[in-house]
Amino acid sequence: MSFFNWLANGLGTLLGVVAEAVTTVVETVRTAYDNYVGRGGAAKQAVLDQSRSQQERLREVNDEIMHLRNRSMSRGGLSDQDRRRWHQLREERDELLGTLNQAKEVKAAEKIIESEAVLEKVEVDLETSHVLQYNAFADTLGKRCQCGRPMKLQWRRELNVAGPKDFYWGCTGWYVQTANGKACTRTEPLQRSDYGLMTDTSAPEFSVTAEEFGVILEDPGTERIIATRVNDLRSDLAGKRKGVELATCPVHGEHMVLRKKSNPTGLLDAYFLACPRWQPNEQGCPFIEKLKSGSQLAALLKSETGRGIL
Ligand SMILES: [Zn+2]
Ligand SMILES: [Zn+2]
Repeated sequence: MSFFNWLANGLGTLLGVVAEAVTTVVETVRTAYDNYVGRGGAAKQAVLDQSRSQQERLREVNDEIMHLRNRSMSRGGLSDQDRRRWHQLREERDELLGTLNQAKEVKAAEKIIESEAVLEKVEVDLETSHVLQYNAFADTLGKRCQCGRPMKLQWRRELNVAGPKDFYWGCTGWYVQTANGKACTRTEPLQRSDYGLMTDTSAPEFSVTAEEFGVILEDPGTERIIATRVNDLRSDLAGKRKGVELATCPVHGEHMVLRKKSNPTGLLDAYFLACPRWQPNEQGCPFIEKLKSGSQLAALLKSETGRGIL
């Protein structure tokens, strides 16, 4: 069961709220949340603690799956016992991903209820496409592909300033390698309702248009300041051996790690998020997220440090 009637994300944004008023939407979320808590569901600190221990278990499960995969490759197959273990681990991982996903919905609901006073509706158009891009970057909760995997908001990555029509839903099965290639390559166009967001618009980035935002980022002084802040965040996270809060790998469920390219051509080429199971030269998990827009850097900094880039 989904917590919401709408799609949501960890930034406290709802998607697909075209017709409804903010108060009605928040009231609906509050009712679902209160029911959940009334039934004894974990909330606030308890849900954070629960997620933390499940994340730890998930890492162990992923380690063991990797270990069995390496064994299978070096020996050309698995024993019956190993194969049974492998199935058990896959099932446990699916279960963990399910409960971690539920926890994300609880946290998203709390964020929406807390920020009621600053929530506004945004109809995404040419001037506000960066608001969609800002939100496209976090895990979307509630959007499923026909194959059952989560779908992610994507856009044509070669564009610096993406317009509303450049966005689409992509199945995360695209990142799952099977013997026959990618597990699922399904994409879907956005529905008209997907362009109706309800989000905290108090971020200064949203007071300018998508194009103005692009121009601001080209200023060398601004570029230097942002680079310094992202570098600081990166060393801070690395020191704590932590990933970022707002994005997880759809396959492994672990929080993505902020990484820097060795020879970037500029700020929007320098950073990417990678699954902790990622390795250079196409080894390991292929799920990476290039941070090629100011909106993504702003969302990342806001989510991790409490302050965006303007
Ligand atoms: Zn799919
Ligand atoms: Zn992964």
